[in-house]
Amino acid sequence: MTTLLIKNALLLATMDEERHEYSDGAMLIRDGFIERTGFTKDLPETADEVLDLSGHVVLPGLINTHHHFYQTLTRAVPGAQNSNLFNWLKTLYPIWGRMTPEDVFISTQTAMAELALSGCTTASDHLYLFPNGSRLDDEIEGARQIGLRFHASRGSMSLGESKGGLPPDSVVDSEENILSDCIRVIEKYHDPKAGSMLQIVLAPCSPFSVSTELMRDSAKLARHYGVHLHTHLAETEDEEEFCLRKFGYKPVDYMESVDWLGPDVWFAHSVHVRHEDIRKFQHFGCGVAHCPSSNMRLGSGFAPLVEYLQEGIHVGLGVDGSASNDSSHMLGEVRQALLMARLRAGLQGASLSGEKSPKLITAREVLEIATRGGAAVLGRKDIGALESGKCADFIAIDMNKLQYTGSFQDPLSALIFCNPGWVDYNFVQGKPVVFRGELRTANIPDLVNQHNKAAARLVQ
Ligand SMILES: [Zn+2]
Repeated sequence: MTTLLIKNALLLATMDEERHEYSDGAMLIRDGFIERTGFTKDLPETADEVLDLSGHVVLPGLINTHHHFYQTLTRAVPGAQNSNLFNWLKTLYPIWGRMTPEDVFISTQTAMAELALSGCTTASDHLYLFPNGSRLDDEIEGARQIGLRFHASRGSMSLGESKGGLPPDSVVDSEENILSDCIRVIEKYHDPKAGSMLQIVLAPCSPFSVSTELMRDSAKLARHYGVHLHTHLAETEDEEEFCLRKFGYKPVDYMESVDWLGPDVWFAHSVHVRHEDIRKFQHFGCGVAHCPSSNMRLGSGFAPLVEYLQEGIHVGLGVDGSASNDSSHMLGEVRQALLMARLRAGLQGASLSGEKSPKLITAREVLEIATRGGAAVLGRKDIGALESGKCADFIAIDMNKLQYTGSFQDPLSALIFCNPGWVDYNFVQGKPVVFRGELRTANIPDLVNQHNKAAARLVQ
């Protein structure tokens, strides 16, 4: 049994059911789980280890619900900078097809290092192509070393160009291989227990890159094993046209036809949805990974974030792949979510009521999406808030920094309104991943060097 006491925090924001916030806050952790939160004066004075966080805001670790770590290898590729989704994909598929297992490993470490430093304690990743002998295991090993909680989505693509899909045949796999590897990784790695550091998700890539049969078979398999399902959905108008032409359905109706609506499913993006689609998500309990930077970067559109929240849909945040963001900055993504929702509200308010000012989403509401929301989307009851019994996954930011000066009246909101930097502490299950601003689990100069070499090899 070991205990860790966090004390004297400028503010401890719990994001618990009642959204308690404690100025001069403290938290007692026992064996990686939270025992108590409250004011410093009300908690024990000592523990096996004590961390004085005077001047810091402490909050639950952020949860990233959609990413493609391997895309850190293709950031800001000139030929893909100014394209919409389908053309962006067509430019990048051949480059990604040259990846090796080492590239998957090093890109996982790079993305996770960036996530850790930007406040993320749990990340989901969607790896959907496995060229040159790459396996999900390469990601899992990279993630294990960095130390973030990981939901590894075993992605897939089976519908190549010759069968009417978008990706070239060279990067798709047979459905037999895909399903047998899904079984292998679930049986080898999936841990559903409280405090789990690793869960497996089944994740056919998108309606335009897998067959109807693979969608159905993946759903059956996931339900047999009790793992979650994930895919891209309703990201662009091109996708909607594709679904209507190939399947005779709009994207959400197509998902319903393949038994993909349920509380064990979450969709990335879901930008182009009708009100009846939102009601279906609500009825079936589906979650959404909102990816504002990517949606703006590719010109995909505005997801109806506020409508989702009003209907009680579980919404988490995703930085999306590092080729369409081109960053893995979680706190930055929270800020983007706030700004994007406000811009949309402004545009709607202007068109609906002239001068009347619309209600604007708050910093606390977007932080809630990135913490409690992400936990709900991933189906986790043990993370997303700082309260008794939950995992000790938290971050702390020193507010005595240039970008936060003058924000003393509301330091929690300042984290979102001001320019987001790196966090100073990031603990997962009570263990430090970032400590006093330093990543404890990898050497960043070595990582940058290896990653740059791998990226350069890919484009040659
Ligand atoms: Zn994506």
